[in-house]
Amino acid sequence: MKIHAALAHASNSQFSIEEIDLAEPGPGDVLVRVVATGLCHTDLTVLANPALPWPAVFGHEGAGIVEKVGAGVSKVVPGDHVLMSTASCGKCPKCLSGSPSYCSNFRAMNMSGGRCADGSCTHTHNGKPVFARFLGQSSFASHVLAGERSVIKVAQDLPLETLAPLGCGIQTGAGAILNTLRPRPGSSLVVFGAGGVGLSALMAAKISGCSKLIVVDKVASRLELALELGATHVVNAAESDVPAAIREITGGGADYSVEAVGAPKVMEQAIDVLGQGGTAVLVGMAGAEASVSFNPIVLQNKGATIKGSIMAGENSLPELFIGQLIDYWRQGRLPVEKLLRYYDFKDINQAVHDAHDGSAIKPVIRML
Ligand SMILES: [Zn+2]
Ligand SMILES: [Zn+2]
Repeated sequence: MKIHAALAHASNSQFSIEEIDLAEPGPGDVLVRVVATGLCHTDLTVLANPALPWPAVFGHEGAGIVEKVGAGVSKVVPGDHVLMSTASCGKCPKCLSGSPSYCSNFRAMNMSGGRCADGSCTHTHNGKPVFARFLGQSSFASHVLAGERSVIKVAQDLPLETLAPLGCGIQTGAGAILNTLRPRPGSSLVVFGAGGVGLSALMAAKISGCSKLIVVDKVASRLELALELGATHVVNAAESDVPAAIREITGGGADYSVEAVGAPKVMEQAIDVLGQGGTAVLVGMAGAEASVSFNPIVLQNKGATIKGSIMAGENSLPELFIGQLIDYWRQGRLPVEKLLRYYDFKDINQAVHDAHDGSAIKPVIRML
């Protein structure tokens, strides 16, 4: 079938919305008409990768309505409303033990471009292959072909354009707290970076009952939003000695820290500000060549821990976790709408621009 997709023809190029061909849903596939999709920094990171086979279609925070299902699909039927998340195999030890965010086949399932076993492609442009099914989706398009495991059925009264970013950014920030860190009520927690992931971590830390919630960023307007969302203290990194400020607020060091910037220097600060027995979780994407240094003796004497977290985090199934996040949203405890700025599909390049310069915290592109 013919669909419209935002094609990137080269690394760091502008998107151009063009008609491409999409294969019929194969066994286990679900065809979803996209209503809205978030734009995530990972889309921009991969857009910057010169090694990719071009053209490519990105987007991995899609939400929409099921149009058709392939053979063997029993989870959804046409007309169902769905959010989408990354693909996982369901068969490896991590999937089987309830942590599909760490699927051993993650790369093959999410970054292989959508080629079928016979070498054919699900997405083509003028008969030539298009790199697609990116992170299980390629939702910068009118339609997505997703695996059954990537789709999460949601109630029809929910606003898809509000909840689309639960598929990656919101889930990643909240998952780092609610599943990977599981902070003790009454503890202190520092979030570095007041973007979509960091502010989601903040909202989740408030739900967890942390009593000191400190947010660090360089942009005053983001720190104001952090206060509105429940931060008890904010530190402007452009004006302050961040570790000194955090030590003063926490009386020596934080119980937990979350790095949601993706900068090695900030990761080092997130480790440095930990108090005795503290845990830092690194969530920001720092690029393949990045490295972070810390003093092991300091870490040992503190009994501190450094963890990584992506997507739903440890011991969590996105399907159940996204349902949990939707409950919090309905209760007003996860007001994700405060992070969003909407764009029409034709304005996707403006959304990319605003994500780069930080003026939009979480751009959402509407397809209708
Ligand atoms: Zn797996
Ligand atoms: Zn993402």
